[in-house]
Amino acid sequence: MVPFQTGANNEAYSATPGAETKTPARIGVSLYYRTWRGNTLQFCPACLAEDAVPYFRRSWRLAFVTLCARHGRRLLDRCAACRAPLRFELISLEAASLAVCYRCASDLRAAPATRVKAGQLTERVIQFQERLLRVVEG
Ligand SMILES: [Zn+2]
Ligand SMILES: [Zn+2]
Repeated sequence: MVPFQTGANNEAYSATPGAETKTPARIGVSLYYRTWRGNTLQFCPACLAEDAVPYFRRSWRLAFVTLCARHGRRLLDRCAACRAPLRFELISLEAASLAVCYRCASDLRAAPATRVKAGQLTERVIQFQERLLRVVEG
C-alpha cells in the first residue's frame, strides 16, 4: 500500500518486514536516552557516607550546585578510581547500594576529599547556591 501511494520501490519495504513501524519507536528511545544522559549527576561522598541508605540529593542534579555546603567539598561527577561517570541504570543488581561505580564497583563514598578552601569566595558560592535553591524549590 505504501509503495503504491508513494511510488517508492516495492523491494525497500519487503526486504525488512515491519521495519517501517519499528523505526519511530527506536528513535524515540534514543532521543530520550541522550537527553537524560546530558544531565550530569553529581554527588558529595561525605553526604553519601552519612546516609544509612545512600541516596542522591535532588539538588546535586542542578548545574549551579558545585559545592556541598555541609562538608565544604566540591561535588564529584565521576568515579574517583576509574573516572567513569555515574550511570545508575548500569549498576549491577547485586550491588548493595547506589553508592558504587557501575564500572569498577568502587565505593563512591571512599572518594578522596576535594575540600575547597574556606574563604570569602567559597562563602559567596554557597550563598549563591542556597539562594538559587530557594527559588527552584519554592
Ligand atoms: Zn556533603
Ligand atoms: Zn569506577
